[in-house]
Amino acid sequence: MKVFEKAPAKINLSLDVLHKRQDGYHEVEMVMTMVDLADRIEMQELPRDTIIISSQAGYIPLDEKNLAFQAARLIKDRYDVRQGVYIHLDKKIPVAAGLAGGSSDAAATLRGLNRLWRLNIGSEELQRLGAELGSDVPFCVTGGTAVARGRGEKLEPIESPPQCWVVLAKPPINVSTQEVYGKLDAKAIRRHPSTSGMLAAIREKRFDRMCSELGNVLEEVTFDLYPEVRQLKEVMQRLGADGVLMSGSGPTVFGLVSKESKVARMYNGLRGFCKEVYAVRLLT
Ligand code: ATP
Repeated sequence: MKVFEKAPAKINLSLDVLHKRQDGYHEVEMVMTMVDLADRIEMQELPRDTIIISSQAGYIPLDEKNLAFQAARLIKDRYDVRQGVYIHLDKKIPVAAGLAGGSSDAAATLRGLNRLWRLNIGSEELQRLGAELGSDVPFCVTGGTAVARGRGEKLEPIESPPQCWVVLAKPPINVSTQEVYGKLDAKAIRRHPSTSGMLAAIREKRFDRMCSELGNVLEEVTFDLYPEVRQLKEVMQRLGADGVLMSGSGPTVFGLVSKESKVARMYNGLRGFCKEVYAVRLLT
């Protein structure tokens, strides 16, 4: 038996940090949605009780550090599954990019193994399992569009944003999410994005307002560490994106574009600046 799952990339339309908690985590408020740029995960039963990971991408760990491996081990242990699985990750989402590629792979592995092993785990329980693997995993389990609070695990699904093009560019640097959160001084944040403003824009399906409500408090930290990310944002603005934001802790920057005629010009302009550029649609 074999199953396949798609693991799409996530972008934050807004990312706010309210304060640092006593347990060391940050209390966040994020509006998240998915884009049509996805890894493809194949899961196949093995006769031996073991987990094997492979991938065409040479730059991710294939051992217990891989989040798909961790997801498989967690579900096996929790549900006492004595079968093995071979998991192949066809990576399309850039790694350490702020697009939650690893988290989405973990979520897709939970969904896929639930089917492969006929475990009948409900989506809330799958989200709870996901929360043990990482803050972005619960959102990736169900996908769609949602507001995430707490450390990212308290999810409230909302309707889809107005459809548009999303042009993503990743400069050739790897950003550590931990380092960015570590350098963030929550008390010193100068401008908080308006989560309620973004929610209203989505509810009212107002693309222009959605673009003007984009905001991410991690931008300043990543921009200070890597000035080329700020430059990339400026380039996207000059190329005519309707709204531009860094995703997660970066370094990927995305531009929202309503007119298809602008997309090719932006794509080509950005390719002169960095190698990894994608033009996709929102997954609505
Ligand atoms: P987030 O925004 O959730 O922090 P990210 O997009 O910044 O995610 P990932 O692509 O998830 O970052 O990669 C973060 C780290 O996780 C990398 O250092 C990578 O080696 C490791 N990793 C573990 N499993 C995977 C996986 N399945 N795919 C990609 N990276 C993985």
